[in-house]
Amino acid sequence: MSVLTKAIVADYAVVSAIESKQLVNRAIKIHNLSPVAAAAMGRTLTMAALMGKEFKNKEDYLTVVINGGGPLGKITVCADGDGHVKGDIENPVAETLVKEDGHLDVGGAVGRDGTLTVIKDIGLKQPYVGTSKLVSGEIAQDFAYYFAESEQQPCGVALGVGLNSKRCTSAGGVWVQIMPNCPEELLSQIETVMYAMDEMSYQFKGSTAEEVIRRFFGRFGVTVTESVEVSYKCNCNKRKIDRVVRSLGRDEAFEIAEERGCVEVCCHFCGKKYVYDKEALGKLFK
Ligand SMILES: [Zn+2]
Repeated sequence: MSVLTKAIVADYAVVSAIESKQLVNRAIKIHNLSPVAAAAMGRTLTMAALMGKEFKNKEDYLTVVINGGGPLGKITVCADGDGHVKGDIENPVAETLVKEDGHLDVGGAVGRDGTLTVIKDIGLKQPYVGTSKLVSGEIAQDFAYYFAESEQQPCGVALGVGLNSKRCTSAGGVWVQIMPNCPEELLSQIETVMYAMDEMSYQFKGSTAEEVIRRFFGRFGVTVTESVEVSYKCNCNKRKIDRVVRSLGRDEAFEIAEERGCVEVCCHFCGKKYVYDKEALGKLFK
């Protein structure tokens, strides 16, 4: 179980945090992620979970696409307003390289020559789409830059995924949003704490999201406003996959079934397989 906690700090900042080890381990299992892929996707899933909590309705939906031109390829992560996230990555087995300081080279694997795009669907005619350039490929900095550039919102983002070979041992993220009327002096104090938010995987080792918030911001006065569970859950279903198969067209679908015995569609986000034999195709294209 991953728990997300939201709090008001010193009346002028909204801080949300999530302990996300379980989300990351679920992603590792589904996608058979290499360590660097687990770090990149884990950080993105963690941030998407925090962003999903901002929605007013359960059905509201966001998609984050990070396309940095590196060996990991495109990372796609989705979150809804009901505490669910899911993700997909183009090259889950990308080689893991380590930097001189001993940290995984996430920026090198994601790449820095590309964009971070956020698509928010809150039931309006058109979804909101915002894009910014990647600054480091390390994900947290890229999100902070995105919020500043695309949504004109000053904030701090810290994300971390700790790994022991192919398991996530701890993971989490903190997102600090400063309210527009925050007094200058308080702002600079909060910023000092934000700059010191580092080694997040260590911070979340054995600690809840609330404990991490209090560790960093306790001295300013913390009022917890809510704590909710977040889980890795896919919203694929037979109806959606039916549409995919129909889009192949009758002839193509039956041709595949003739060759391979059936049409098999595997969901990119959860790995669930949908199988259509000739009888099922007959019904579908009736
Ligand atoms: Zn699925």
